[in-house]
Amino acid sequence: MDDFDFDTLGVRAGIERSQFNEHSEALYLTSSFVFDSAAQAAARFSGEEAGNVYARFSNPTVTAMQQRLAALEGAPACVATASGMSAILSLAMATLQAGDHIIASRGLFGATQQLFGTILAKFGIDTSFVPTTDLAAYQAALRPRTRLVFIETPSNPLTEVVDIAALAAIAHDGGALLAVDNCFCTPALQRPLALGADVVVHSATKYLDGQGRVLGGAVAGRADVVDEVYKFLRTAGPSISPFNAWVILKGLETLRIRMEAQSAGALALARWLEAQPGVLRVHYPGLASHPQHGLALRQQKCGGAILSFEVDGGRERAWRVVDATRMISITANLGDTKTTITHPASTTHGRISPEARAAAGIGEGLLRIAVGLEAVDDLKADLARGLAA
Ligand SMILES: *Cc1c(COP(=O)(O)O)cnc(C)c1O
Repeated sequence: MDDFDFDTLGVRAGIERSQFNEHSEALYLTSSFVFDSAAQAAARFSGEEAGNVYARFSNPTVTAMQQRLAALEGAPACVATASGMSAILSLAMATLQAGDHIIASRGLFGATQQLFGTILAKFGIDTSFVPTTDLAAYQAALRPRTRLVFIETPSNPLTEVVDIAALAAIAHDGGALLAVDNCFCTPALQRPLALGADVVVHSATKYLDGQGRVLGGAVAGRADVVDEVYKFLRTAGPSISPFNAWVILKGLETLRIRMEAQSAGALALARWLEAQPGVLRVHYPGLASHPQHGLALRQQKCGGAILSFEVDGGRERAWRVVDATRMISITANLGDTKTTITHPASTTHGRISPEARAAAGIGEGLLRIAVGLEAVDDLKADLARGLAA
């Protein structure tokens, strides 16, 4: 399969037909597997013989999803998990111990910040949060026990872009792994492993499913690291349901065409927003006005499907834009074929103090849009009403 193009891998990788020769991938909704004999059971349990045992750590549908995602990321190995957060937790549990240190970008998903800053801290793992795009700050934060550098690029909601190759060199010089949460771009637009990252984590809940149906996650990358994640999952059990894995497996078939269509919509909408009176600033890596536009063009295939923008008039004006929509969904989720709008300062980032929010650049007038597959003219009309009000 190694010689095939991304598009071919998206629909063909990971297929292993049963004795029925089904064309579409089978869904194995079973928690356990039977053995021919006591000896075979023993051999399967010990790992002497390859084969499925119990769905906490082995299921053919989950294996198919893992293999397809690994192929798309260019990863030697992949383990699927119950959600994006359980992927990040599993990576941390597999690679860190008490006394170790994480360097994380400040622009991380809120639950990831909580996981590192609050939960892992209880177990003696310290995290330094550094300004997202400031490579010197990552370098300066390195300690002898730094084991993991963890970033999201582009970041949420300001779409800040981190130089993955440069940061990989810094992390490796410091003896740490570089993990990239590749949720916003997906392998269709960005392949962090090819740029030097050691592992990629996913919230498969977002674009990999792509239609807002199921939760899922994955860790893909270096075989030795993924093997440790697998051992953690096998024992601790944050495992994905075969049903969810099957939905995500089928979602991967349309990933590239969805990502490109949704990104084209986001670029058109970003350009239009930039020209609207009352819009102070648009954050989108595909715009020439974006501070890391050049880096984004080198590192990503295009700008992605998520943008944010600041309206003049703070929270009142921002909420008016949200409330004037009739079609766009008011929800914090992203990565769906349906466009969503959210006011980060009062929702996803509402638990952060106003001072910390301001330091992070998340103002009261900021709105985030995750562009879906609707016609861009309909999105413009839905936003124009609130912007004009
Ligand atoms: C949603 C999200 C997560 C968490 O994923 P879940 O599947 O909701 O657990 C992690 N990182 C990013 C960037 C996300 O958007």
